[in-house]
Amino acid sequence: MNPRRPTRQITVGNARTGIVRIGGDAPIAVQTMTAGYTHDIDSTVAEIERYREAGADVVRVAVPERKDTEALQEILAQTRVPIVADVHFHYKRALEAIEAGVHKIRLNPGNISDREQVNAVIDACKERGIPIRIGVNEGSIIERKDKQRRAEELGMYFEGHRSGHLLALMIAKLEEYLDIFDARGFHDVAISAKSMDASLVIDAYTEISRRFDYPLHLGVTHAGPRSTGAIRSVVALGTLIANGIGDTIRISYASDHIDEVKDGLEMLYSLGKRTRKGAELIACPTCGRIQVDLFSLVQDVEKLLAKEIELPIKVAVMGCVVNGPGEAEGADVAVFAGDRRGIIYVQGEKVANVAETEILPRLLAECRQFQDRVRRGEARLGEKKVDIVPPDPIGELGSGIDKIKAGLVEKVTVGHSG
Ligand code: SF4
Repeated sequence: MNPRRPTRQITVGNARTGIVRIGGDAPIAVQTMTAGYTHDIDSTVAEIERYREAGADVVRVAVPERKDTEALQEILAQTRVPIVADVHFHYKRALEAIEAGVHKIRLNPGNISDREQVNAVIDACKERGIPIRIGVNEGSIIERKDKQRRAEELGMYFEGHRSGHLLALMIAKLEEYLDIFDARGFHDVAISAKSMDASLVIDAYTEISRRFDYPLHLGVTHAGPRSTGAIRSVVALGTLIANGIGDTIRISYASDHIDEVKDGLEMLYSLGKRTRKGAELIACPTCGRIQVDLFSLVQDVEKLLAKEIELPIKVAVMGCVVNGPGEAEGADVAVFAGDRRGIIYVQGEKVANVAETEILPRLLAECRQFQDRVRRGEARLGEKKVDIVPPDPIGELGSGIDKIKAGLVEKVTVGHSG
């Protein structure tokens, strides 16, 4: 992992919503965008609140029509997270959103390029002290008729890159747009340069990070449904963040946007870039040694932990004791399953040996009790390692090493090798 690239810092929000810092030494912020019509106030407020509860630091709303900016004042009064107005084509929507009290504006240089119009937005933001994100998208960087000519002119610059001309265009467009902001003495700016191509996203942000010190908003646009979008987004954003690039992220899915927030946070937790809120679940993938319905157990544990545990307790659900103890090392609470049974450990101490049907309630009860002890100062997270040294409690589980070695493990209908 490379050290974080130094950038300027912007702030979004106010005392009511809480102030989110983006850039500099601030934690990488997670954003999402509402999917419904902004002028439908009740459902927009409900949507924003869902995302806030899931952990979104900032939420963006589209304001394509006057009725959308008219709804903003009421939406802002009812929500408790900084709101960004996403403006395309009509600079007046930006002015209306600023007037309504929005906390940040996103402008697209590809479709609002008239200098006087941009100046009007810059001046209004300056007066209110709110930042602007300059959001370049691969798909809207320049008018079609110009694109080919500019591509040819600039393509040489990134010769050898399979999307060199696009990269050159995105950077040229950004430089051109930033000149307007510079001339106005406005530096309360964040930048994004999104594409649906993960490798282009990595190259574009890498290049931009060398040229500008504004905070970077990372994203793979139109990444598709979660099944593929998650891979594209995490590959591109994870690579950049590991290289020290990126100050805020938005993962985009063609599905419930709550998953954008959850997956963005999980990516940042995995990279050690945010402090985890809630339990961390480790689970084995199962193999031919499995003797309980582990997949269902893991799903149930995940759901209940999300509901009931607020501290970052590490919980391990392991299918057996062969690799389980090593893999669960560092877990605060762990279960190792055996022949339709499970042995539960809390920070290295065996606390129960229960039948399969009792694993879930007992594991949850132990997690709750452990959380209470941590809150009372009687235990510390991650303090003791799970420590099961063979010969193990295997005999108790009815699937001891000897039995496993002898190939006598009974098969169950769930689980698979791999
Ligand atoms: S060896 Fe045990 S812990 Fe590892 S995948 Fe198989 S069942 Fe799970």
